[in-house]
Amino acid sequence: MTTIAFIGLGNMGNPMAANLVKAGHAVNGFDLVPENLTVAKEHGVTIMANALAAVKDADVVITMLPAGKHVLSVYEDIAPKAKQGALFIDSSTIDVESARKAHAVARKHGLSSIDAPVSGGTGGAAAGTLTFMAGGSDDAFAAAEPILKPMAGRIVHCGGDGAGQAAKICNNMILGISMIGVAEAFVLAEKLGLSHQALFDVASTSSGQCWSLTTYCPVPGPVPTSPANRDYNPGFAAALMLKDLKLSQEAAQGAGAVTPLGAEAAQLYALFNAQGHGGVDFSGIINFLRGSPA
Ligand code: NAD
Repeated sequence: MTTIAFIGLGNMGNPMAANLVKAGHAVNGFDLVPENLTVAKEHGVTIMANALAAVKDADVVITMLPAGKHVLSVYEDIAPKAKQGALFIDSSTIDVESARKAHAVARKHGLSSIDAPVSGGTGGAAAGTLTFMAGGSDDAFAAAEPILKPMAGRIVHCGGDGAGQAAKICNNMILGISMIGVAEAFVLAEKLGLSHQALFDVASTSSGQCWSLTTYCPVPGPVPTSPANRDYNPGFAAALMLKDLKLSQEAAQGAGAVTPLGAEAAQLYALFNAQGHGGVDFSGIINFLRGSPA
């Protein structure tokens, strides 16, 4: 049993913390939102008055927060007071630069750290099947792996500080671009009088095959479990896709990478969000491309 501080008990953090409790760990949790603390308590998390109290006796500290500024502010607050030799794991999706700064804050206070963002959404968080993409030293990764296991289907060590965040935003840039590509193909098929099922039957076993088509098909019917069959209830909300595409474009600018399709995808999701569809599943972009309401 390990004593784990879990800071950020939102849509993802709460089910992740619940799986750590189920695995037999003592989890001390904190969030700014009282309702989230009530849910965490029901899962067996010990609720603490603030982040410092949660961290005080913890061997491992996990953060699951909205963005880089939240992670850095929490790290600056808690790292000086953390237990000697504690391991910090940040699973939030944040920009690579902030992730590297967070590692530096931890190192300054003699702590080990990894960035370990996830994919798999709230369903994967509840099922304990998230994919973790980790960045940091070999030693920190080796220490983190058994802690991540009860929450994970797959854990990949991607490289040094920030490599987990780099993998996450590159993956999600592929996802955003490919969803738009698949949605455009269905819109064109409709105009050409080709049925959804016929396009699916061909493309899902041909060179157009990809996850956005075969798992998250943006039209109802061919893949019964895709959000299109439940009125585009997320799933993975368009607001989060926009967040990740923006992170990819900031990273591309900083690194001098040319990503014209990533930029276009970010712009299309920005327009979709601006029309008030941020809470819709990101596959709902097909309605925007058709010019019909989501
Ligand atoms: P969320 O908004 O539901 O949860 C974030 C929580 O952090 C909130 O409950 C908020 O109150 C808390 N918080 C903010 N500042 C805090 C502070 N200073 N101290 C304590 N708590 C604080 O978001 P989420 O959906 O759980 O996502 C968390 C992270 O995971 C984000 O970075 C997101 O991009 C990433 N992510 C989300 C999904 C998803 O499907 N929801 C999938 C993969 C990755």
